[in-house]
Amino acid sequence: MKDQGIKRIRKFSSLSSTAKDFIDDGLLFSLLTPDGKEDDSAAVEAVIQKSLSKTALNLEDTALLLRVRKPELQEKILEAANRLKRNIYGNRIVLFAPLYLGNRCINDCAYCGFRKSNREAIRRTLTPSLIRKQVETLEDHGHKRLILVFGEHPRYTPEFIADTVRLVYSVKKGMGSIRRVNINAAPLDHEGYRTVKQAGIGTYQVFQETYHHDTYRKVHPENTAKGDYLYRLDALSRAFESGCDDVGIGVLVGLADWRFDVLGLVAHALFLQDRYGVGPHTISFPRLRPAQGITMDPFRKVSDEDFIRMVAILRLSVYYTGMILTAREEPGVRDRLFDFGVSQIDAGSRIELGGYTEIGDAQQVIQREQFQLGDMRSLDEVIRQLVKQGLIPSFCTACYRLGRTGEHFMELAIPGFIERFCSPNALLTFQEYLTDYASPETRVEGEKLVNRELAKISDEKRRELVRKRLEQIRTTEDRDLYF
Ligand code: SAM
Ligand code: SF4
Repeated sequence: MKDQGIKRIRKFSSLSSTAKDFIDDGLLFSLLTPDGKEDDSAAVEAVIQKSLSKTALNLEDTALLLRVRKPELQEKILEAANRLKRNIYGNRIVLFAPLYLGNRCINDCAYCGFRKSNREAIRRTLTPSLIRKQVETLEDHGHKRLILVFGEHPRYTPEFIADTVRLVYSVKKGMGSIRRVNINAAPLDHEGYRTVKQAGIGTYQVFQETYHHDTYRKVHPENTAKGDYLYRLDALSRAFESGCDDVGIGVLVGLADWRFDVLGLVAHALFLQDRYGVGPHTISFPRLRPAQGITMDPFRKVSDEDFIRMVAILRLSVYYTGMILTAREEPGVRDRLFDFGVSQIDAGSRIELGGYTEIGDAQQVIQREQFQLGDMRSLDEVIRQLVKQGLIPSFCTACYRLGRTGEHFMELAIPGFIERFCSPNALLTFQEYLTDYASPETRVEGEKLVNRELAKISDEKRRELVRKRLEQIRTTEDRDLYF
């Protein structure tokens, strides 16, 4: 108990200089109360137009979209999200894989298989040689971007996280390499963020889980580290103050009213934009999945239709952000959601500790995982599906490697940026996959897509440059070419 007290004091002394609880539950609920405007198609259309002109929506705008009831207006929102997504991100979908490093945890989150009171969980922290093996296997599949996931535990210090990141970057197998390592771990203090930043991390993600105070209290016991709402809400402000300008926010969908949590996410994005001039690089919206020993009773189940609306509204509200959809979702929902705003997905994921080398394709070992996955397709199968839908699978890491993070990543909303940089880079990384890792069937369909997309590049000089580089990848061992 005494230790807990000391920990809390240390934490409060390490809040950001601007730490404040900017979530006003009463205000957010009042914005969700119907006032008739939500049935007014002109008002809804005005908000949609604002978003399509690449202006971040405020809370009132977002709440109006959340209140819409008329099916034809809801349809308009979905169409607009699709249009905005194509305008900003083109038809690329960025692919990554999660790598779970350790499931020891001092917290007791009511929804998570890693919670400390789950005595059945098999606790494990990967050793350096096991990490190496997992990364080699991921590289053998064609992955270039990973997110490392950790429980919260005294063993998982910033130094431990930083060493793991360095180790992952150092693993090279065949033509493989990991070019971007993102992190999903407990909130750190300023010094901790500086330590992980030096190791060359990409995005640092901390999900608030729910912005609704009462629900937060119910699912995160107060005597645990995660029970401190403000410390968590302030996590990414500390990251910015420590030089990490590439951060990801998220909510666990199904804990509280999803509309409330959309407003929470938008409030958080606006807060970061206002304070640091940069909004979140990504937004995640994991939907609650069954986990070991957890009943779903206390949670608010969110239907597929509402989930799709949620994604579409977030797309419109925070036009510049990357939207991450994970393999928690089943294939049918995933494939539908590509149209409404998702820009990044994981594929071929295994979330059991050591799962990439130790678990057979179809099995899952529930005692070793945080929750059950919904999409067990291989990376190659998911890629084939993307190609079928006319989407370019991308492993691009160019912006981060060229320092286009922080305020510069917002440049991607600038007209022409996608055509000059993003689409060519997506094609080059996809060509690497096709040449080095794809199944014969995926290669045939993929090459057709590459040729179709190449023809779409309107600038003749650029098109010729991309064509030459694609050929260079097909015929030589030159890799990692980007604009
Ligand atoms: N331990 C760190 C933390 O809590 O911030 C790292 C993240 S945790 C391993 C990754 C995320 O998984 C959590 O932030 C939560 O949103 C999500 N998660 C936990 N339990 C889940 C469940 N049953 N279904 C779906 N997602 C879950
Ligand atoms: Fe631990 Fe994170 Fe799971 Fe909570 S969500 S029990 S902090 S791993």
